[in-house]
Amino acid sequence: MNLKISALEFVQEVQNGNISAEDFVAKTLERIQSIDDKLHAFLSINEDAVNQAQEIDRKVKSGDKVGVCFGMPISIKDNMCIKNSKTTCGSKMLENFVAPYDATVIRKLKQQDAIFVGKVNLDEFAMGLTTEFSAFGPSKNPWETDHVPGGSSGGSAVSVSAFECVASLGSDTGGSVRNPASFCSVVGFKPTYGLISRYGLVSYANSIEQIGPLTRTVKDTAFMLNIISGLDSNDNTTVDNKDENYLSGIDSGIEGKKIGIIKEMLGDGVDPAVLSATKDAISKLENLGATCEEISLDMVKYSVAAYYTITATEAGSNLARYDNLRYGYDFSVEGYEFNSYITKARQNFGPEVKRRMIIGGFVPSTGHAGKYFLKALKIKSKLTREINDAFKKFDLLIAPTVPILPFKIGEKIDDPIALFLVDINTVTANLTGKPAISVPFAVSNGLPIGIQLLADSMQDKLLLRAAHALENTVKLPEVPI
Ligand code: GLN
Repeated sequence: MNLKISALEFVQEVQNGNISAEDFVAKTLERIQSIDDKLHAFLSINEDAVNQAQEIDRKVKSGDKVGVCFGMPISIKDNMCIKNSKTTCGSKMLENFVAPYDATVIRKLKQQDAIFVGKVNLDEFAMGLTTEFSAFGPSKNPWETDHVPGGSSGGSAVSVSAFECVASLGSDTGGSVRNPASFCSVVGFKPTYGLISRYGLVSYANSIEQIGPLTRTVKDTAFMLNIISGLDSNDNTTVDNKDENYLSGIDSGIEGKKIGIIKEMLGDGVDPAVLSATKDAISKLENLGATCEEISLDMVKYSVAAYYTITATEAGSNLARYDNLRYGYDFSVEGYEFNSYITKARQNFGPEVKRRMIIGGFVPSTGHAGKYFLKALKIKSKLTREINDAFKKFDLLIAPTVPILPFKIGEKIDDPIALFLVDINTVTANLTGKPAISVPFAVSNGLPIGIQLLADSMQDKLLLRAAHALENTVKLPEVPI
């Protein structure tokens, strides 16, 4: 059984009766069992997955209506709710929390007969970019297992890259889908803000975050987006995409498109291998008939500072609910007065979450808000104006997804500022609500490099079309695991 197929190939094979969903899911679970000790992508496994696949095979055989996923094994970042399954958010705080309902994306995928093989690792509450901040230990990069896989959706990227599932869902607040996608050589997509419902996603900084697919091909991302996008009465920030079909016209190429090269994302500190891959990507896009020209987004230089100010503020308020009364890990009140009881709960957060909460309490507080929080909001508005102007002239923008190559586990863990700065190329899409995608493009000394494309709001379809054209220009080596 070949597990190394795309989502679209899987669907075709099951539909035509060439493979059974049961076999494929069983082999996928075997693979997880045999290699995940080395990778630590999974936090929990769905023990019922094979039974669910049997039921889909039965429907296929008897000619009953089957959903478009045909039993496709998918992994889910462990900050999205699947009813009656654990949702830990990579935190001790929610170690035993069992979700009482399905997230909208989960409900939609279930309706289409997807099978969730398991929940995957993340930095605690999605705060980080290496998965080293997971309370349950880091995931490993399948390309070099002593290197980080990126994050915070590290488990998602690892599981897709190492063929432990066919596709995955992650969440992207400041790059958490695109960064690990780039580090593990898979496709990672952050849609226009509002395109995918956040209902059932545990909030970190909800004004800018989105759920997004991680897949092996851009077409697979379009396929997933067809299922999970659209209006949702449970999330008032969702937008009506009129049931857009993101697969249609995806092969039409990018002849005549104008692409802006973001100068501030190619400045000092970009690894030479990343720089040369980006130049190569630009010339390949030009060969396909696009014109590329440098453009400046001046506010990008303040974007990381604004991003961490805004997200810490939202996190401070979102995480207030983990007080050991509504959510927590140890509800025994014996021997505690009120304040010390709450303090007891708070001690169970990891160091990164504590850091964000402390910053998040300070920056919007009376006497400081003008200097920090409001200033960050002004940068966000100005950056949005700049990028809107850019899209008057360009159809797409391009930059490396991450300025550096995957690094060793432990290398940057004690230097939060150095870690924050790695987000320089990804946070702009979140702060401005624009769609962005990371396309696997090169492998340098065994380490993957992703190229990022951005488009204007609601131009997700054009973005996927361009990303598909770009991915077709390269043939990359297979993951060595
Ligand atoms: N690295 C960023 C942060 O720690 C992005 C996280 C994310 O997108 N969830 O906030």
